[in-house]
Parts: sequence; structure tokens; C-alpha cells
Amino acid sequence: MIPYGRQDISSEDIAAVVAVLQSDWLTQGPAVPRFEKAVANCCGARHAVAVNSATSALHLACLALGLGPGDSLWTTPNTFVASANCARYCGAEIDFVDIDPHSLNLSPAALAAKLAQAEKAGKLPKVVVPVHFAGQSCDMSAINALAQRYGFRIVEDASHAIGGRYQDQPIGNGRYADITVFSFHPVKIVTTGEGGMALTNDPRLAERMARLRSHGIARDAAAQAAHGPWYYEQVELGFNYRMTDLQAALGESQLRRLDRFVDARRRLADRYDRLLADLPLTTPWRDPASASAWHLYVIRLHAASRRRAVFEQLRAAGIGVNVHYIPVHLQPDYRRLGFSAGDFPVAEDYYVRAITLPLYPGLSDTEQDRVVAALREALA
Ligand SMILES: *Cc1c(COP(=O)(O)O)cnc(C)c1O
Repeated sequence: MIPYGRQDISSEDIAAVVAVLQSDWLTQGPAVPRFEKAVANCCGARHAVAVNSATSALHLACLALGLGPGDSLWTTPNTFVASANCARYCGAEIDFVDIDPHSLNLSPAALAAKLAQAEKAGKLPKVVVPVHFAGQSCDMSAINALAQRYGFRIVEDASHAIGGRYQDQPIGNGRYADITVFSFHPVKIVTTGEGGMALTNDPRLAERMARLRSHGIARDAAAQAAHGPWYYEQVELGFNYRMTDLQAALGESQLRRLDRFVDARRRLADRYDRLLADLPLTTPWRDPASASAWHLYVIRLHAASRRRAVFEQLRAAGIGVNVHYIPVHLQPDYRRLGFSAGDFPVAEDYYVRAITLPLYPGLSDTEQDRVVAALREALA
């Protein structure tokens, strides 16, 4: 089976993890701050807080921005459930904004319309979570302009997008967002096994997220001077969301190949575009303002009615296709909150046509040719 995504592990990656195993610290040692610094430098952000998943990073980002009961968070329905669940962890209301039919990202026009209505109703969101679907940036300057006007904060879910660029700057530099979140799950661009990170240029947000990551405990030099060197204080209720040194060492080693990973993905995406040009499907739209990190290569069948048969035939042929994403509002746990089919028609129409083809740095041209041949046959 050719999977839809796969990690790339080198002998250097293995050596980096082994070195941690032979060191004094398996967690809370020097590797985590080193990895944080490396990601912050790579993305042009001032601060980075490593955690055990992007899901945890989203949760901490929302808490640091003060999201709580009585507030609301808006995101796109075309995402993994974690982008929305973070609102609910904080006791906030969740709502969605439909996608743009070309970029498949949260639509700034739909956002503007919904904000105008929400303002009249006195129910503006506190936080908006744009998701850079498949690795291509959202229209962040438009979303940021709306944030200025309506006063909401922005958490970019860039789980797909480390190594991507927007307006010729790295995603994660915080030009248009308060906090940027990355995922290091094995199917993503860079992996730590499980892991995530939150980037920000605001030292108070960084400090708050770092404290919440470790039980809400502060180690304050003045308090230690007063009470003794063992002294620490839990100043708020936090979590154990820490990343281990094993994970951070793997991440730091992986990060050195980030450009190579993204280049390899882009080359394969370009090749898919050429090989699929004559088939009855739509290949990914490319925003001239951004350079995608190419986490996913998603095609849309012209005939939605054939999606299931084509998908099953590809799986039977050993092609590990997938579908990204079932619109979050259609999940049973979201329908229970009152959402239903028809609420976000662009995301729903996209979903019924979508198939994610295999894309990862180690995919060979021969394997990619097999994917294309199987798709061609399934569509014949
Ligand atoms: C993978 C993913 C997440 C969750 O990442 P974890 O590191 O597995 O918690 C969140 N949002 C999006 C868009 C993702 O693709």
C-alpha cells in the first residue's frame, strides 16, 4: 500500500534520538529549548512553546488569549476536529465560517458577512482560527484587517504549513496572527512522533502558554530567594502538555531538512498537476500570494456521485487515498450542538468530491505514476 502521507526518518534523526537516550534528560532537558529556538528562528517568530501535540497548542493558545465561557471562537469546517474542539475545552461557543471554493480555506468574504451580522446581534467572536488547508496560507491580510475592525484575536492553525510562505515571508512570523500553531504528527511536514508548537511575538502570551503547559507552575527567582531553592508555586490550573527531549531532538534534526521536504513535496505536486491535467477533476488552486508547504494534494472529482467508487477502487489497487475533511459541523458531536447539513454549503460540496492522493518526500516517481495510472483507470 502506498500511504497518503509518510514520515522521512534519516540516520541523523535516529542518532539525535539515541544521543538523548544516552544523556541525563529524557524530558525537560536542553533539547526542548533548542528545538523551540530553531523553529522560532526558522519562522521569524520571537517566542516558541513546544508541547505534546498541536491539539494541546491550540488549547493553550485559546487559554492564553482569555477564551472562556460566554466567548465564542470561529473556525473553518474544512479542518481536523482539533481546530474546533479547542473552543469547547475552554467552555466557549464554537461556530464556523464557510470556505472559499478555490483556496478551500476560510473565506474572508464569508467572514466579513458573518461578522457584520454578529456585530448587530452583539455576538462577535473573541478568537478566529484560520487553518492553512493542505499547507497553503489563508488570505491572512484580509482576515487581519477584519480582526482590526472587529477586535478579535487570531490563532493560525498552521498544522499543515510549516515551511510554507505567505507574501514572501515564512508562515509563523506573526505578522497577521497573535499565535501560530504547528503539528509534528508523522503525516505532517516535520515530525516528532507526537508534538506541536505555539509561536508568538508577544512575551506575555508565550510565558502564559509555557506556564499552562506545565501545571500552571511558576518558578520565580524572587520567590525562591524568599522561600528556598526548592520552592515553586502553582499560580493557576495548568496541564502536563510537555514535549520530551526525545521528541525535541528528533524535531530539531528533522527541521534541518525542512526546505528539502517542502521542495520534494512541491516537485511531486507539480508533477501531479501535469499528469492529471486531462482528467475530469480539479487539481489544487494555487494562490499567487503564497507558497504552499504541500502537506496534502487534494483532487476534486467533477462527478461527486463517483467519489466513493473511485476511492474504493484506488484503495483496492493499493493506493492509500484519504479524504480531508469531513466538515466538522457534520460530526455527531457537533450536530448535537445544533449544526446540520446545509449550514456551510461550500465546504459540504467540496467534501463530497474530495480525494487526497499520496504525497510525501519519499514518494518515488514510479510510485506516483502508479497512483496516476490507478486513478486514470478508476475514472475511465
Ligand atoms: C493534525 C492537525 C491537528 C492536530 O494535530 P496533533 O498534533 O495531532 O494534535 C490540528 N489541526 C489540523 C488542521 C491538523 O491537520
